[in-house]
Amino acid sequence: MPAPRYLILSDIHANWEALQAVLESAAGDYDRILCLGDLVGYGADPNSVTEWVRANVAIVVRGNHDRASAGLEDLEWFNPVARRAAEWTHEQLTPENLAYVSALPKGPIAIEGFQAMHGSPLDEDEYVVAAADAGQSFPYLETSLAFFGHTHLQGGFQWGLNRVRTVGRPSVKQKELPLQLEPDTAYLINPGSVGQPRDGDPRVGYVLYHPDERFLMYRRVSYDLTAAQAKILRAGLPEVLAERLAVGR
Ligand code: ZN
Repeated sequence: MPAPRYLILSDIHANWEALQAVLESAAGDYDRILCLGDLVGYGADPNSVTEWVRANVAIVVRGNHDRASAGLEDLEWFNPVARRAAEWTHEQLTPENLAYVSALPKGPIAIEGFQAMHGSPLDEDEYVVAAADAGQSFPYLETSLAFFGHTHLQGGFQWGLNRVRTVGRPSVKQKELPLQLEPDTAYLINPGSVGQPRDGDPRVGYVLYHPDERFLMYRRVSYDLTAAQAKILRAGLPEVLAERLAVGR
């Protein structure tokens, strides 16, 4: 039996237009979808995105914005913009979608041969940004491959020969970048953010993972950013949430 091929998404943040661009460009390249949390918060389509996740995503871990929007979190630690978005999302979510988001499992969770988490293996809210952060996380992985999100930075880290190295991502001129997984090496892979990239590239980020070939593909794809921005403004959400989509920061 061949292993399923995965489409790996993170930090969709209620951006329906961005999600549509992923599905169009990845069609035919995967059998199963995995989502690393932050379905909602920031964007203007929390219900459409949550309904799509409920119907289509096999495995989901929760993110901090999911907890916040579900009302499970003290919003004191959120900045004013994120707090406003979480409160707005909480008001918007239908009872079914609110129940679903509230019940999402905490990572890390184990899947066939790899792990999935929002932040780090020890703390779902920890940002693994630099090689030093990754170096502290690798010893706590239970498998040699793990996927994480939360930072909205596509790429990740590999650990081999007692050294942590950064894994590359497509340049702004590239649409994709392959990564062949090597033996005796551990990987912490960030697919990037679907709905609010922060690595300076406003295009949607995602990853395809084909376990049988130990093959991974980072992708970036343009989407109808103007439509997503217009919805954010129309919803009365903070303007900065629309503006930052255009710069990818
Ligand atoms: Zn996020």
